[in-house]
Amino acid sequence: MTLSNLIEEKYNTALKNKDLLFYETTKVNKNVDGVEFEITYAPPLAKKPESDIDPTIEEKKKIKVNPFLPPHPALYVQDIGEEHSVILNKFCIVPRHIIVITKEFKSQSQPLFPGDLLAAWKCMMTAFGTTPALAFYNCGPFSGASQPHKHLQIIPLEGSNPQPPIKALFNQIPERKAGQIYLLNQLPFVHVIIPLDRNFIDSSTDDEELSGYLSQMFFGLLDAMFHQLRKHATPDREISYNFIMSDQFMMLIPRSRELATLSQENLQISINSLGFAGMLLVKTPEELAALENHNDLMQVLKDVGYAWNANADFEDAMEQ
Ligand code: AMP
Repeated sequence: MTLSNLIEEKYNTALKNKDLLFYETTKVNKNVDGVEFEITYAPPLAKKPESDIDPTIEEKKKIKVNPFLPPHPALYVQDIGEEHSVILNKFCIVPRHIIVITKEFKSQSQPLFPGDLLAAWKCMMTAFGTTPALAFYNCGPFSGASQPHKHLQIIPLEGSNPQPPIKALFNQIPERKAGQIYLLNQLPFVHVIIPLDRNFIDSSTDDEELSGYLSQMFFGLLDAMFHQLRKHATPDREISYNFIMSDQFMMLIPRSRELATLSQENLQISINSLGFAGMLLVKTPEELAALENHNDLMQVLKDVGYAWNANADFEDAMEQ
C-alpha cells in the first residue's frame, strides 16, 4: 500500500474511533503586500473542553511525559528509514496533517540533520498523492512548538492555488537561481529563503546524495540566518526559529517570542512556522476581528521575529 493510501486509511479509522480529533474551521483571506494571508478561525479550539485533550489526571501525566514516545498505535502510520516514524496529528484542523518524529528522543531545539530532511522530503513527495504539501519545523522555545521531542510537521495544500501564501513573494524574485540565498524586500523581519534545485532532486536516486543536498541547503541557510540576525539585531536569548519547506524552497525565520500581541494588550495569539508561510490561526471572534481589522499583518509577524533594520549594511545581503 502506498504511503498516501495508508495515511488516508489510518486517518479515517482514527477519526471514526475518536482517536483523532478534527476541528471544523472557517477561513478568511486578507491581502497584504501581495501575500494572500489565510486566517483560519477555529472556535472549537477555544471552546474545546479540557477533557478533549486531557480528560483525566492520568492522561494528563501521560501527555506530559511525551506523546511521541511511543506514539499512540492508532496514530502510528509507518517508519521512514531507520530513525523516523510518520504519525497522524491527534488534534487537526487540516485533514491528514502528519508528523515526522524521531524514533528515539531528540530535542526540538536541535537543527535538522540530513536524515530528518530526507524523511521530511520523502513524506512531502508521497504522503498525499498528487496534492502538494508543506513541511515545517518549529525549533526552540520561542518558535511556537508545544512538544520538546523532535518533530517536523507536514500538511497537504488543497484548493485552487495549492501553495503557501508566502510563495507569491518567492515568485517575484528576479532571475531566481537554485542554491542562492535571497532576502524578500517586502518582509519587515529577518528571514532567509533559498530556491531548491528540483532537477537535481528529482534525478537523484541515492538517499545519501539527496540527504546531503538537502542538508547543504539547510545549513547554508541556517548560517545565512545567523549572519542576518547579527547584522539586524542583538538577540538576548537562545535562538529559536521557524523552518518552512515547500517543493520549491526552504525558508528560515528567527524568533524573538512565541506570542504576538494584537490590538488589545490582553489579546495574544501563538504564532508558529505556518504564520510565516502566511497561514494564521485564531480561536476566538475577538482574535479574528483583531486580525481582520489589523492594518498590517506583516507587523504582527515582525513582533514575534526580529525587525529588519533598514540602516544595516545590505551589501552582501543578496548572496552568501
Ligand atoms: P508543535 O505544537 O509545533 O510542537 O507540534 C506538536 C503537534 O503535535 C501539534 O500539531 C499537536 O496537535 C500534535 N500532538 C499533540 N499531542 C499529540 C499526540 N498525543 N499524538 C499526536 N499528535 C499530537
